[in-house]
Amino acid sequence: MDRYFIYKQQVFETTMKLVGVDLIRISAGNISMRLPDGNIAITPSGISYDHMHPEDIVIMDINGKKIEGKYNPSSEKALHHEIYKSKPNTNAVIHTHSRYAIAFSTVTLELPVICLELLFVGGPIPIADYQCPGTIAVGTSAAAIFNDRPDLKGLILKNHGMVAIGENLEAAYQNAYNIETGAEIYHIALQTGKNPVALTETQIKEILAHYNKTK
Ligand code: 13P
Ligand code: ZN
Repeated sequence: MDRYFIYKQQVFETTMKLVGVDLIRISAGNISMRLPDGNIAITPSGISYDHMHPEDIVIMDINGKKIEGKYNPSSEKALHHEIYKSKPNTNAVIHTHSRYAIAFSTVTLELPVICLELLFVGGPIPIADYQCPGTIAVGTSAAAIFNDRPDLKGLILKNHGMVAIGENLEAAYQNAYNIETGAEIYHIALQTGKNPVALTETQIKEILAHYNKTK
């Protein structure tokens, strides 16, 4: 019995959920989780989601060295392991090439807190400086931003894609969904030619107090 199979299955199921809501396509993007033994389960590099199976999920160590798997780990493995190294409470990382997030990154427009979706992910959502995809710099620069802003649940990589994190796969999935939805809402609002109004500090405090009370 493969002792990692249950985790491979979980990463695979989250991957399929992301395909289902059109956040990832073909083989762009990658998904991982931190395992109880400190290793990482991550999607394989370059395998189309149409043809991916749970057993194709790769196990690597915290430095990105493959431990188990038929394929190579994602080419963005450094993005995942650098975040895990610097954020002990983060146990899942999702990277997407979702369209609205990328579109705003090309014009370096961060996503202001215009709706609950962007408030609950610790917005405004910043655009990280451009780094060549697949390099360790993608990971170190993203990790630095997350370290500066402990409540931030996601960011956008310039001219590349989105990264969402969470304490587990479900949380990271919801954060990724909220960021892309927030980006889409911002895009629609800008089409009016008017200036979308962000929630004020007072409104944000009131919302957060209300949600904490009702949780
Ligand atoms: P992988 O298929 O290697 O995970 O790469 C996809 C990607 O997002 C590149 O930035
Ligand atoms: Zn990418």
